[in-house]
Amino acid sequence: MKRKGILIIADGIGDRPIKELEWKTPVEHANTPNLNRLAKLGICGMQDPIFPGQPAGSDTAHLSLLGYDPYQTYRGRGYYEALGAGIDVKEEDLAFRVNFATIENGIIIDRRAGRISTEEAHELVKAIQENVKLPVEFIFKGATSHRAVLVLRGLAEGYKVGENDPHVEGRSPHKFDYEDEASKRTAEILEEFVRQAHEILDNHPINEKRRKEGKPVANYLLIRGAGTAPKIPKKFPEQWKVRAGAIVAVALVRGVLRAVGFEIIEVLGITGEYDTDEMAKAKAVVEALKDYDFIFVHFKPTDAAGHDGNYAKKIEMIKKLDRMVGYILDNVDLEKTIIALTGDHSTPCEVKNHSGDPVPVVIAGGGVRIDDIQEFGERACAKGGLGRINGKYIVPIMMNLMGRAEKYGA
Ligand SMILES: [Zn+2]
Repeated sequence: MKRKGILIIADGIGDRPIKELEWKTPVEHANTPNLNRLAKLGICGMQDPIFPGQPAGSDTAHLSLLGYDPYQTYRGRGYYEALGAGIDVKEEDLAFRVNFATIENGIIIDRRAGRISTEEAHELVKAIQENVKLPVEFIFKGATSHRAVLVLRGLAEGYKVGENDPHVEGRSPHKFDYEDEASKRTAEILEEFVRQAHEILDNHPINEKRRKEGKPVANYLLIRGAGTAPKIPKKFPEQWKVRAGAIVAVALVRGVLRAVGFEIIEVLGITGEYDTDEMAKAKAVVEALKDYDFIFVHFKPTDAAGHDGNYAKKIEMIKKLDRMVGYILDNVDLEKTIIALTGDHSTPCEVKNHSGDPVPVVIAGGGVRIDDIQEFGERACAKGGLGRINGKYIVPIMMNLMGRAEKYGA
């Protein structure tokens, strides 16, 4: 029997026991009737997105959760950022993340140029795209506020290049370092790009105006995160013979999904922030299930709350997630659908960053060998029937239950 699949990723949901929560984790403490319903209907376990104890980035974790080995496939972050920003990045291109910054007498005094408005930044981006002359074609595109992406056409081979971002204020920008000859050329082109951009930016009317208003000027570019297309053997839809759609707001994660062949399903009101419209997301999943075989849904704000070290906020966001899951459970035929829910990594409030702690996972739907776990949480799931698995096996386990895995051997 062929079934459809829904993979729900609650970004950074895993956490550690918190004293103020009587040593429970936020997901253990939160009132989550629907996550618990899912746990009762499914088989639970723990998963390590990379390997036990290894903190995962959002990009590498998502590659793994989509069934790819990040050590075989990952070639830097910039590629996903550029794809996520809507640039048609080619296999031979090299992409970077860029910040507008403020430089004074050779010293970076603000790495985000006073969080310059998106409108102003886009004006500056235009001036750079039109006036900088490089020996290769380039695309420079503004994102939000001080963020932008840069794509250098045809330089994928020279991807082993460093960054000029000193990551702290009060220091000079770095020179771009490089690991091989091909990357040396990239470094030289980047130095030239930054030099010309600085000249254009320093005298731009927007910055003249900001200077008069006493605001930090956006007169320098900090470039980091060199990345090129992942080396994936087969894209997701070809490998599993499914039509695959993704509902996701965050640019980096959108980029990963696009890179492995998912169609992005645009949904109004989803933001990747605390105010994201979880019900719009839930309704979009149910709607998309009519046309797609496999739906990926991303829920970001659990991670943001972890980065903020705000356990109350994290609990509030987990309840939002719970409402989303409730609607999906009420409107999907579980006999014909496999639903998996997990996180891409833990973001403990104590750490305020990604950690290497394993993440609870549940898989429910037709054919599942239901275990006796009654609630969704780190310690409850640790006793579940899935045991402890590597995150890259979640998709194959789903596809087996969905009747879409092929036999290996005779
Ligand atoms: Zn994060």
